[in-house]
Amino acid sequence: MTTWAQTRTYRLGEFHAFEGGGSQFLYLVPAGAIFELDTAAATVISLLSEGAATPEELMEKLTQRDFAAGDAAELIQEMFLARVIVARDSSSANREPVETPPADFPLQTLVMNLTNQCNLSCQYCYEFGEDKVATPEGKPKFMDLPTAKASVDFLLEQSSGRKAVHITFFGGETLMNFPLLKQVVTYASQRAAEQGRHIDFSLTTNATLLTPTIIEFLSQNSIGVTVSMDGPPELHDKLRVFANGKGSYDIIAPRVRALIQGHRTRPITARVTLTNGVTDVVKIFRHLKQDLGFHEVGFAPVTTSPDRLYAINERGMDGVLEQFHILADEYLEYALRGEMHGFSNVSDTIAELYQGVNKSHPCGAALGLLGVGPSGDIAPCHRFVDSDTHSLGNIATGVDREKQADFLNRGHINSKYDCHTCWARPLCAGGCHHEAFVRYGDTGHPNLHYCDWIRDWTDTCLRIYGAISAQNPGFLEQFAERKALN
Ligand code: SF4
Ligand code: SF4
Repeated sequence: MTTWAQTRTYRLGEFHAFEGGGSQFLYLVPAGAIFELDTAAATVISLLSEGAATPEELMEKLTQRDFAAGDAAELIQEMFLARVIVARDSSSANREPVETPPADFPLQTLVMNLTNQCNLSCQYCYEFGEDKVATPEGKPKFMDLPTAKASVDFLLEQSSGRKAVHITFFGGETLMNFPLLKQVVTYASQRAAEQGRHIDFSLTTNATLLTPTIIEFLSQNSIGVTVSMDGPPELHDKLRVFANGKGSYDIIAPRVRALIQGHRTRPITARVTLTNGVTDVVKIFRHLKQDLGFHEVGFAPVTTSPDRLYAINERGMDGVLEQFHILADEYLEYALRGEMHGFSNVSDTIAELYQGVNKSHPCGAALGLLGVGPSGDIAPCHRFVDSDTHSLGNIATGVDREKQADFLNRGHINSKYDCHTCWARPLCAGGCHHEAFVRYGDTGHPNLHYCDWIRDWTDTCLRIYGAISAQNPGFLEQFAERKALN
């Protein structure tokens, strides 16, 4: 009788090959891992790229190329275990099923939308703009203290087993409810300390309401700050305007400078929304990083239907990519000198590569992260807060586990047929659920409008990662703990 072992043949596994710093690497897709190719491994790849081979045939070809038999056998075994090569009859060859996270996955981050009110009228706003999913009518505009305390208690209960948890404050404009923010920091810190746990805080703001007192509070409490800002005045003021149409740059620039100068305990980040006409990434980066002094600057194209005036078309996105490449090259130069460059789009991806992420879902929404709105309604993340369609329950009554499971099942990579053969899926996993809803009307739809872009950008980050790991590997250690909140 013929056994499976006797009929086994090897073929190449699923990987994306890339070069970095003069070394050759493989991004092993089923594992989300990176494998450096030496000459011997490259020979095996080259042999199997001609067609499948039995272990004996492979051994013979390797020994003909002067490999000792013992070394050749060890190499084949190592490459098989790493899934660089796979058994031809292996059903896992094309796609390794990604594990479904356990149903009781503990919460780690709660995004608290302290208000749904804002003092700006940015035309592209996902909360108030033309593509909004929120239905705030009849709901409270500001979160009250009992709801906020119940939210903190909910986070601590739902995160049991985790030593450290995180609260991110959001809006509307977060600082329109600064009195509540202060109370939450005090209450949550006390509750966490009672339980021998750690809680840390961050917020996103448009910076219009920053005062010396607020800055001092943020610094004293080590609260991370992300400022939404789109560059120098001629770019920032195109869409980030007050209700009367007046740009907000002149109001926020001095406040941002004071924040960066006065807040010494955490790095200050700028988050830029790219829109039609606001795509000059390098210019924006230089202004925010060098002129204003932000520690990090991250960019995201606006989430919108493609027919909006501020949507970026395909040509515009190509231009964005070209400029991302310029900053990525600079990033590498800095990294090889051991310095942080500040372009957080590279840092965020490098952190994911370093941590070997292999995502079942694009982000933590409805998994380790939940949003809560002023009414106490629970949402998959801050972008779905106040949306009746996407509500996952209420702080008073808990999470609706059926709705949560439905959201997660639809968003799982296994449900996204188009992604199953894509080498970028361990990092992308189909992309933002909110963007998918705005574009396709389904939070579980893969964001197929940007696949080529994502793959190009992921390849760029892989090349940077490879070059750093070959030439200055110690630099990568700082990414062990880094987490990005999109
Ligand atoms: S959305 Fe596109 S880029 Fe992302 S995993 Fe799916 S196919 Fe790949
Ligand atoms: S990626 Fe999208 S769905 Fe996920 S947390 Fe961010 S905004 Fe929400």
